[in-house]
Amino acid sequence: ISQPDQPQAIEGEGKDLLSKFDDVIALREGLLSSGQEDPFNLVMEKVLSPTRAICNGRDTILLGTYNYMGMTFDPDVVEAGKQALSDFGTGTTGSRVLNGTYQGHKEVEQALMDFYEMDHAMVFSTGYQANLGIISTIAGKGDYIVLDIDSHASIWDGCALGQAEVVPFKHNDIEAMEKRLKRIPEGAGKLVILEGVYSMLGDVAPLKEMVAVAKKYGAMVLVDEAHSMGFIGENGRGVVEDAGVIDDVDFIIGTFSKSVGTVGGFCVSNHPKFEIMRLVCRPYVFTASLPPSVVATACTSIRKLMHGSNKRAHLWENSKNLHKGLKDLGFNLGTDEPQSAIIAVIMPDLQQGAAMWEALIQGGLYVNLARPPATPANMTLLRCSLCAEHSEEEVGEILSIFEKAGKQVGII
Ligand code: PMP
Repeated sequence: ISQPDQPQAIEGEGKDLLSKFDDVIALREGLLSSGQEDPFNLVMEKVLSPTRAICNGRDTILLGTYNYMGMTFDPDVVEAGKQALSDFGTGTTGSRVLNGTYQGHKEVEQALMDFYEMDHAMVFSTGYQANLGIISTIAGKGDYIVLDIDSHASIWDGCALGQAEVVPFKHNDIEAMEKRLKRIPEGAGKLVILEGVYSMLGDVAPLKEMVAVAKKYGAMVLVDEAHSMGFIGENGRGVVEDAGVIDDVDFIIGTFSKSVGTVGGFCVSNHPKFEIMRLVCRPYVFTASLPPSVVATACTSIRKLMHGSNKRAHLWENSKNLHKGLKDLGFNLGTDEPQSAIIAVIMPDLQQGAAMWEALIQGGLYVNLARPPATPANMTLLRCSLCAEHSEEEVGEILSIFEKAGKQVGII
């Protein structure tokens, strides 16, 4: 019903709330006006295996999928998903605390407890939500979060949602971290947040030293092992296992969207009060749970990853071969030595990075083009993530495509 005595907005005078993105729109249009293929709009027309897909009609090697352990086409995993789809239907249509807890959700949580040898596991609909939920629920107003400046967006968003005081420190700098911890008022709640592997440069945190410092100052510790689960550590439990500090951390966050090969997120913990999180964590309560087929595939995949030492060894070989090969070709890499399954190739600027990305895709190789704000220090990166299913020959092929593209664009 119209109310004629109230002021009417004059057509065309309202503020366009999307105008704040004009700079990004201009940057994107500038890039694409040269005829450049859009690096952020790639379509996989057919996926042939964990390492191959048809993109724009081309047979393409996948080197930017985080599918570290190549579980997406594992026959047992696929079969488990099909069976759950038949037995339980396509979705739960509800929250975990209402109608959304099925047998499969309990089974995947048990698989996580067995995988990590920990007392509690809580599954979220994504890894993003696991960080959002756990961080915002445990660290609220008046608490302090000390975190690495290069933390993933989901960590920052979790901090913002909980409204704790956020104190960032320089990437992987133990002394800087200690300085921040020292300054926190006596008696305040303290949470230190670290990642096992930092996904932009593929470098690993000095967790042994950092966890010791956090404990010295009485802080609780949360480690995001999204990029190390399944691969790093003797049993694939992550950098916390490799560094021998798994028993000293309070919460491990992980995802099903990388080594596990599906979608979902989780937190595992030995904290005796952990189960209360299921009732007080809003990104867990106020959203629908994962579909039965997804939790069934995750459960089968996690149990297989417990016996993945051969795959882990081959993935290390791949990582070392690619790192050495790229270095020998003259590319500038994110780390001096390979530290994970991510090898970042540093580009001089966005234009050359985009040109290189295009030359690679036209040569039949997909990598991630990463740019600020996702990247540290304003870098443009071509981020390569290796898979245990890449063969030695494929790594050789990848290097040839890099060499040709690098020469064509003038980067090497
Ligand atoms: N943490 C880190 C460190 C990540 O890199 C990512 C995803 N790239 C996530 C959390 C979120 O995981 P998901 O894809 O399951 O939302």
